[in-house]
Amino acid sequence: MTETKDGVLCIDGVKVTDIVEKYGTPCYIMSENTVRENCRKYKNATQKHYGKNALPLYASKAFSCVEIYKTVSSEGFGADVVSGGELYTALKAGFDPKKIYFHGNAKTDDEIKYALESGVGRIVADNAEELCKIDRIAKSLNVTAEISLRIKPGVEAHTHNFVKTGQIDSKFGFALENGEAFTAAKTVSEMKNVRLAGVHCHIGSQIFDSDPFVLAAKRMLGFIAKIKNELSVEIKELNLGGGFGIRYVEGDNPIPYDDYMKTIAQTVKSESEALGIAVPFILVEPGRSIVAEAGITAYKVIAVKTIENIRTYVSVDGGMTDNPRYALYGSKYEACIANKADLPRDFKATVAGRCCESGDLIGENMMIQRPEAGDILTVFSTGAYNYSMASNYNRVPRPPVIMISNGEPRVIVKRETYEDIVKNDII
Ligand SMILES: *Cc1c(COP(=O)(O)O)cnc(C)c1O
Repeated sequence: MTETKDGVLCIDGVKVTDIVEKYGTPCYIMSENTVRENCRKYKNATQKHYGKNALPLYASKAFSCVEIYKTVSSEGFGADVVSGGELYTALKAGFDPKKIYFHGNAKTDDEIKYALESGVGRIVADNAEELCKIDRIAKSLNVTAEISLRIKPGVEAHTHNFVKTGQIDSKFGFALENGEAFTAAKTVSEMKNVRLAGVHCHIGSQIFDSDPFVLAAKRMLGFIAKIKNELSVEIKELNLGGGFGIRYVEGDNPIPYDDYMKTIAQTVKSESEALGIAVPFILVEPGRSIVAEAGITAYKVIAVKTIENIRTYVSVDGGMTDNPRYALYGSKYEACIANKADLPRDFKATVAGRCCESGDLIGENMMIQRPEAGDILTVFSTGAYNYSMASNYNRVPRPPVIMISNGEPRVIVKRETYEDIVKNDII
């Protein structure tokens, strides 16, 4: 995806310096080819290991805009949405509602109504109140809601505390070990306007190890068998969530998707047989691993401030408003100076954003080329959870997203203007 030409960093053959000259800084730059390649890796792996009996969904909270829904839809993906806003965006893109899975731990009545009226494929129900709400709203609309239950399988994934979701102490879903999940399934089996189509789990994010996924799959299959035996309800669909790690910095070593799929598929098949249940239809929900490495962010270096014997701050024209991940999780990134891409990265810099917060950093002690004001600093692997988490703090307009499609840059999300900043203010 990236290479160096005439001493300049290129993405899909286009010089980053040319892109920023045309579109300004800061800007997000994405490679459409890389997004598509990532989709195909999942598509091929699911096909190879489950045949037609599987569908990958794009977890769109990682990066949500009209164009990305179009892209993943054309690759045969479904989508996972977690809010009315994401659903609206997907529908605007012409996404097939039947392939949309509606998630969330605090869905409002309006969102449930919107999802049912739009004909989404599944609502992934999170709590007991929500089950009653879905039944009531579905009844008022005279439809049957096809739902999946969000289950906490009680699996510890080795990742950041804020992105762990599979353990009992989590705000998401019904717990297996205390019988909550079973009670929920029983409740649904007695409801008139809700049908239990599937079960879902998602154990966390940025996970490199396949063991927690295997364990989660086993627990979920055990649960499907229990429901079959005790409630005579056959659950046909098992959604194993997302969370596959990507490479942010050296030392992050993601497992090839195919290896992961192979391991899980073996478990799913052998475990189903042992439990005497049919192999369920499998869904996976990659978000980060579809878009993260497909994106970079380009900033302009505004100032270089060396504090003797302490550190050098390199201040750029963006920061936590376009990438809050350091502030949120202490995330690490790699960076380089696009216009000095041939030179060695031998300068230790703390890259700081422009916001009035000392914690507004892109990263501490990042190795980059020797920086000076006016340089174009690029940060790698920013395609996920950057634009989608961006804010207008300090009334900073959000950057545009430039997509490179077959060597041609085009704007897929416009840069916000000062007008946009005040558009909801009553003047
Ligand atoms: C966030 C999330 C995902 C995607 O996680 P990634 O780490 O981005 O792959 C998938 N499913 C659910 C329910 C999620 O909340």
